[in-house]
Amino acid sequence: MNRTFRALLAGGSAVTAAALLASCGVLGGKPKRIAIAYTNDVRGEIRSCGCATHDLGGLGRRATFLRVFRDTTQADVLLVDAGDFFSASINYGKEKAELTMKSMAHMNYDGLVPGENEFGFGADYFRTRAREIGLPVLAVNLADAASDSLLFAPSRVVTLKSGLRAGLIGVVSVALKFPPQVQPGSLEIRDPAVAVQAEVDALRPNVDVVVVLSHMGRSEVNQFAQLLKGVDVIVNGHDGLPVRQVKRWGEPYVVQVAAKGMYVGVATGSISKEKRVVRLTNDVVGLDKSYGDDEAIAKLFNAYDMEVVAREKAALPTHAVTTFAGADACQACHAPIFEKWKSTGHAHAFERLASQNRHFDRDCTPCHTTGFFKQGGFVNASATPHLTNVQCEACHGNGAVHAKDPAQKTDMVAKGTCRTCHTAEQTPEFEFNTFWARIDHGGMGASTAGSR
Ligand SMILES: [Zn+2]
Repeated sequence: MNRTFRALLAGGSAVTAAALLASCGVLGGKPKRIAIAYTNDVRGEIRSCGCATHDLGGLGRRATFLRVFRDTTQADVLLVDAGDFFSASINYGKEKAELTMKSMAHMNYDGLVPGENEFGFGADYFRTRAREIGLPVLAVNLADAASDSLLFAPSRVVTLKSGLRAGLIGVVSVALKFPPQVQPGSLEIRDPAVAVQAEVDALRPNVDVVVVLSHMGRSEVNQFAQLLKGVDVIVNGHDGLPVRQVKRWGEPYVVQVAAKGMYVGVATGSISKEKRVVRLTNDVVGLDKSYGDDEAIAKLFNAYDMEVVAREKAALPTHAVTTFAGADACQACHAPIFEKWKSTGHAHAFERLASQNRHFDRDCTPCHTTGFFKQGGFVNASATPHLTNVQCEACHGNGAVHAKDPAQKTDMVAKGTCRTCHTAEQTPEFEFNTFWARIDHGGMGASTAGSR
């Protein structure tokens, strides 16, 4: 359990009970408090890959955090998502989409607004499966052009455990760009502020809190917020950048958490007697491994992993023409370097994936193999078993010609390749000298990292 979470359980900000009672509405003798737990821009990150320096995130940990938080906080908890929980990557298949939606339904989300990524398999797929799985998708201004009817419910009212009634409205940007799977012109996006204000006016008499889930750019949401009357909090998604200092834009507070599902935002406020959220504080909970995976979601993951392995095994070729030489070929002339390499993480990168049944996950394999995505490079462990792990040619380039004629050098400068996998996101603390020290094989033979 991290420190932020302990602070949340302890009540967060230092407001005295007397001050709260003096300024807030009272229900059952207690001041009403609402904690809006929120996610946005998860972008298909179903679990922490475990190899990143900041090992944070994942659906299983998120569910564990939410369960404990709901069980222990004094506040009423609302759980929402502001869109782009699917990924736009070509490697993101329907299995991951299904796993994501089922996991979110298990977490009992109170409301979600779709981003453009949710339409990556077409509008019908998402609409149908979200309904069947039981996700409360909301979008007040997104209509089917042919029938002129809204694609999803515009809003919903949720009664929370203390009796507090929360109105939730979903809205998308007029600038939303749908993926090519959506037929151009088939969906109509109406004016966000006009559509939301009409919905707020209809909901307000019957609710204590109004929360809008928006999917739009940062400057757009800040301008949009200033046009609204009667909205307490806007949870936004799309650009994936966190709002560091939560502030009001006009009446509403606007919150947003960093992308990729590493954190859950928790915006907590009191409800004034005028039925407005006041003194909103915003906490960010990093989903580290101390949370552990929720049992039900772990079962979904097991089924998902087995399905992917079975499908890939059936579909992928068992033979492939490769042009890479493989580390064994390098060993013949560079034995000391080969021995050193065997002791590094690079030499065991594929085993680590396989031990987690993730060796067919194309989000992982490119950086755990040699020549993936390259002509004649790694295809799969059956077809190209000699190209598993991060071998010499992953950094130095295809060495087939060099193996035949040592005078011919490989085609990449190794020093320039680290960042391909050790990206700012994956390895934020990457610094060449420190990392080179872990694999240093300079002066052990013919090759050094700086040369070819
Ligand atoms: Zn988006």
